[in-house]
Amino acid sequence: MKPKSDEEEKKPLFAKLKYHFGIKLVAFPSSDQKTTIKQNSDAARFIYNEFVALGLEGWKLRRLEKSLIQNQVSSSNPEWFTLALKAVAARLKIIGDQLYNPTQLKQRFKWLDKNKRIDSTMLYATLNFYRASWNMFHKVHSAGIPKFHKKSDSQRYSTLKTTNNIRIADQNHLKIPKVGQIRVTKIPDWLLNRTDIEISGASVKMDAVGRYSISLTLGSDHPFKEELPKTNSKVGIDVNVENLYIDSFGDVVENPRFYQKQKKQLQKEQRKLGKRAARAKKEHRSLRTAKNYQKQRKVVAALHHRIYNQRHNFLHHVSTALIKNHDLVVAEKLQGKNLLKNHALSQRIQDVGWGILFEDLAYKAKLYGKEFTKVDPKMTTQTCHTCGFVMGRGGTRKLTLADRIWTCPKCQTKHVRNHNAAINILSKATV
Ligand SMILES: [Zn+2]
Repeated sequence: MKPKSDEEEKKPLFAKLKYHFGIKLVAFPSSDQKTTIKQNSDAARFIYNEFVALGLEGWKLRRLEKSLIQNQVSSSNPEWFTLALKAVAARLKIIGDQLYNPTQLKQRFKWLDKNKRIDSTMLYATLNFYRASWNMFHKVHSAGIPKFHKKSDSQRYSTLKTTNNIRIADQNHLKIPKVGQIRVTKIPDWLLNRTDIEISGASVKMDAVGRYSISLTLGSDHPFKEELPKTNSKVGIDVNVENLYIDSFGDVVENPRFYQKQKKQLQKEQRKLGKRAARAKKEHRSLRTAKNYQKQRKVVAALHHRIYNQRHNFLHHVSTALIKNHDLVVAEKLQGKNLLKNHALSQRIQDVGWGILFEDLAYKAKLYGKEFTKVDPKMTTQTCHTCGFVMGRGGTRKLTLADRIWTCPKCQTKHVRNHNAAINILSKATV
């Protein structure tokens, strides 16, 4: 093995790999394995909340430190401030040690070490997760500082690969630390047969209905999928509330509105759940042990899950077709459209899931050697793509959502509003 430079040493092994991929497998744990998963999930939440508490205290102390330093200058008793600052610094050091050295946590909470079911790499994975939340806060302030994780009906924890602790045992089994060999749905052949793929971690989950899954994060120096053949075709898509989108060829993809279709049923089941919760409360029973309530809770969760799956499957097929048929797909940046300001529209927009569609497109473009890009939607609706005339200028009126079809006052071309917009969206990325 050749010696590594300092710079190389600092980078985690996995980050050096060129391609990354995720795969989710449905899992079928035994009842003993379920116990292990629950205990690790509980421990992960406990530790995460410990980190959140420490982080919050540190955050407040650093603000206090700042104001102490500022006030010390004008104070008649600077010695008092020196003492206070010393105390703050001492506490900050303890917090820093506990936050950046998770073995300290194990010493503080002996039960973590004593419980043979606890996966020690889960500690590091949880710490990574906590740090990612802070990074998110520093990047986008609206994300808020990390919050406490509440107890919920689902379970989740992550584990990191160290040596050989996470591995594929055979076509239907994974090996996960402490859980051991666990049965999963068929592992795809490409993953079984390729030796260049590294597993970096696994996330174990039980949803609110009680179904288990394991998500693996994979890395490799070689692409995960073969590039799709080039088609020499480019397409612009205009997402709108009348349908999912219309493309620059004038083809429309309808929006199936899975949520709207099942809204009535969902509301009915939710009302039933509310009644059962009220009854349990009246009889002074805890919701966790109220059988009828728990049964109904699963019905509601399953319904949510079904809508979520239907929407994802549909958008998955739509995005695959777009990437397969075109070398370049262009859409608009969503925030520019300001549609969310309209409350009546916002629920319908959520139902469409354009965000998911765009994420899918970006991911698949990278995976299959195609391109997906987003452009500023400014003027794409108001501009005639034939002559470039902009509606609203020269005494003409601006188009509204009601103008589905319009005629350009300058060149007399008849336009379908959203089709014209899709053509403009495409040309913004290609000119
Ligand atoms: Zn025109």
